[in-house]
Amino acid sequence: MAAKRIAVIGGGLIGLATAYKLLLKYPALQVQLFEKEDGPGFHQSGRNSGVLHCGLYYEPGSLKARLAVEGIREMTAFCREHDITHEICGKVVLAANQQQNETLRGLAKRGEANGLQGLKMLSKAELRQREPMVQATEALLVPEEGITDYKGVMNKLVALIEDRGGKVHFNSPVWSVNQTPAGEITIQTATQSHNFDRLVSCTGLHSDRTYKGFTGKKEPLRIVPFRGEYLSFKPEFNDMVNHLIYPVPDIKYPFLGVHFTRMVSGEREVGPNAVLAFKREGYTNSDINLKDTLESLTYVGFLNFLRKNFTFAMGEFVSSLSMASFIAKAKVMIPEVEASMLVKGSAGVRAQAMSSSGKLLMDFSVEREGNQIHVLNAPSPGATSSLAIASFILRNYLIDIE
Ligand SMILES: Cc1cc2nc3c(=O)[nH]c(=O)nc-3n(C[C@H](O)[C@H](O)[C@H](O)COP(=O)(O)OP(=O)(O)OC[C@H]3O[C@@H](n4cnc5c(N)ncnc54)[C@H](O)[C@@H]3O)c2cc1C
Repeated sequence: MAAKRIAVIGGGLIGLATAYKLLLKYPALQVQLFEKEDGPGFHQSGRNSGVLHCGLYYEPGSLKARLAVEGIREMTAFCREHDITHEICGKVVLAANQQQNETLRGLAKRGEANGLQGLKMLSKAELRQREPMVQATEALLVPEEGITDYKGVMNKLVALIEDRGGKVHFNSPVWSVNQTPAGEITIQTATQSHNFDRLVSCTGLHSDRTYKGFTGKKEPLRIVPFRGEYLSFKPEFNDMVNHLIYPVPDIKYPFLGVHFTRMVSGEREVGPNAVLAFKREGYTNSDINLKDTLESLTYVGFLNFLRKNFTFAMGEFVSSLSMASFIAKAKVMIPEVEASMLVKGSAGVRAQAMSSSGKLLMDFSVEREGNQIHVLNAPSPGATSSLAIASFILRNYLIDIE
């Protein structure tokens, strides 16, 4: 029997991890990956905080909880095996008042339920020793978390896919997909059409549009793009941050709040906020796409979200326009932080799925439609979990490819 042909659409971490895992498990498969940009990870996967999350926040039993725990172990092992810069530097989560103290203790229980090891409430002295500049009413140490070079991970994945006979096509946006009644899939790029037996779509910020366009069915959820902006510390202030320093998040939202991040390059960043982006791949406030903006602003789900979360949305938008407002969030954790210590940093846009009732969909979501598998929602910790998400797709949606 001829080897099966699989197309993977999207050269972010999840598409690359899926193509790699397919070739690892089924070396005879013909795997081709199509990415619209000139290289891997131009969007979410190359514009994130670089953190290895270990599963502290997520509802026990959820896909995020399972795949973050499995994912951080696998991603760390991958970095070790392939000599990719990473560091398990640990994280401290800081409470700023009595109510957050309780939430923090709840998070510690949740982390234990998710199988995290070494969680520890720090005494004032222990916290001062680790992070002399921070202030907190209580602090939780999460020792398993770390940082990595996700761009290095993606470059390695491309090399491994090609070594195993897979093809990676950059500058190849997939425009349309047709599936015959017999199940054969034809994908059309600008210059060519190719036939496949299966397709796995990992298109991040476009996942709802590609689902609708490729399957001809109504999308089960909609993506609303939320931009996150960062500020970078001038090098002389890098020693203000030793670990990853996070606030207690508002668990109503999937966004983890403005935090301090230590990067593998040695730099330190603070951010990100969470502002509606006026373009799916829009990295500044002046990056506007009328279609994308109208689509978000007229989506009943977004209007419902805004109605229910007006104060949150406005607070984040103001923090995008005003450095003082952004820094005020950071000062809750490190009061000595000043605007003069920071310069404008990078930005990323999160693909956040939202239901028509305005609910932010928290968990990862994957759907199969005929011979097409679509990753519909893979927000943070999708980078950490990418190798585990790929295994999950193989186990649950591609068992019939041998
Ligand atoms: C600001 C920010 C901070 C984050 N911080 C972290 C963190 O610290 N740790 C963590 O674990 N996670 C983090 N995340 C989440 C993480 O980055 C994502 O979960 C992960 O990168 C998703 O990977 P992906 O492959 O699904 O999407 P993407 O990386 O967005 O890749 C999708 C790819 O599909 C391509 N594409 C789209 N349509 C087509 C088409 N028609 N044809 C061809 N190609 C197409 C795009 O060009 C893109 O390259 C963060 C995200 C953001 C935005």
